[in-house]
Amino acid sequence: MPLSPDQIAEIDAARATPRQTLRAVSDGMEAHLYRAHEVLDHGFIRVIDYMGDDAAIVQAARVSYGAGTKHVSNDEGLIRYLMRHWHSTPFEMCEIKLHVKLPVFVARQWIRHRTANVNEYSARYSILDREFYIPAPDQLAAQSTVNNQGRGAVLQGEEAARVLEVLKRDAGQAFDSYESMLSQDGQQGLARELARMNLPMNTYTQWYWKTDLHNLFHFLRLRADAHAQYEIRVYAEAIAACVKDWVPLAFAAFEDYRMGGVTLSAKAVEVLKRRLAGEVVGQPESGMSKGEWREFEGVWG
Ligand SMILES: Cc1cc2nc3c(=O)[nH]c(=O)nc-3n(C[C@H](O)[C@H](O)[C@H](O)COP(=O)(O)OP(=O)(O)OC[C@H]3O[C@@H](n4cnc5c(N)ncnc54)[C@H](O)[C@@H]3O)c2cc1C
Repeated sequence: MPLSPDQIAEIDAARATPRQTLRAVSDGMEAHLYRAHEVLDHGFIRVIDYMGDDAAIVQAARVSYGAGTKHVSNDEGLIRYLMRHWHSTPFEMCEIKLHVKLPVFVARQWIRHRTANVNEYSARYSILDREFYIPAPDQLAAQSTVNNQGRGAVLQGEEAARVLEVLKRDAGQAFDSYESMLSQDGQQGLARELARMNLPMNTYTQWYWKTDLHNLFHFLRLRADAHAQYEIRVYAEAIAACVKDWVPLAFAAFEDYRMGGVTLSAKAVEVLKRRLAGEVVGQPESGMSKGEWREFEGVWG
């Protein structure tokens, strides 16, 4: 279970005492504040704090004194222009702080995004909860035969049951050993900082993660993408749903130009021009490698 009844009560108490402020407030984000959005079997993301809204991006771009233009259409046009032309610093004026609970192997991918501030739960100081990630049946899949960095067919029947059993048994055994080694209940045992080293990568950890909107979009572009591993993608998708409510105009521009858009190489532009002129161009005449051509055809047919 991602949150205990005590933790839920704490969140409810925090949400029950709103305060007046002169700061920019995003109504969409206020609805998310503190609430846990469940991810995987024991994980979650929670928005702990945020700064700015769509108007803050516009104000920063114009270096304005007040709330800036009153016309949403003007703001939308400017935000789309900024996104289209990679004028990124106005997006850095918005910030978000998240509380994330995630398996260690997901955390290892996540921490590669260096342009964020992180503080992780200390397993030197505290005893870890007995929680590990076990994939749902539809995610229990074999190695992909076409992509070395991915999964293929979903396991069925006896093979699915066998693998599931191994995952559960190993995690349970490792956790039993962890608890049996700890310096507690009168035994000398091992310090927490050492006893944890036998735990598997599907053990859950937690951190506070703070970043700005520009770098968050970069994270979402890579991790909410179909090429990202499912287990980090579902976190990125949960964050994206909050961002959509926080800065709807910026998020729409991001979806249009980054998530939905494609980058063309000079060679690809040339092929498209030749095709539009009626020429039949295949991979050998394109100047592209087979891999590039496959990706190009994936988008353009
Ligand atoms: C599908 C996928 C597969 C991957 N596979 C692997 C893998 O097999 N092995 C592996 O090791 N990693 C892998 N990665 C991680 C990847 O290489 C990046 O480390 C990760 O996505 C973080 O990207 P980033 O550096 O752009 O982000 P951030 O660290 O957030 O940086 C954002 C931007 O800031 C700038 N920046 C930050 N720090 C520096 C710096 N020190 N010097 C110069 N510029 C900087 C860069 O412009 C960078 O793009 C994979 C990522 C994805 C999405």
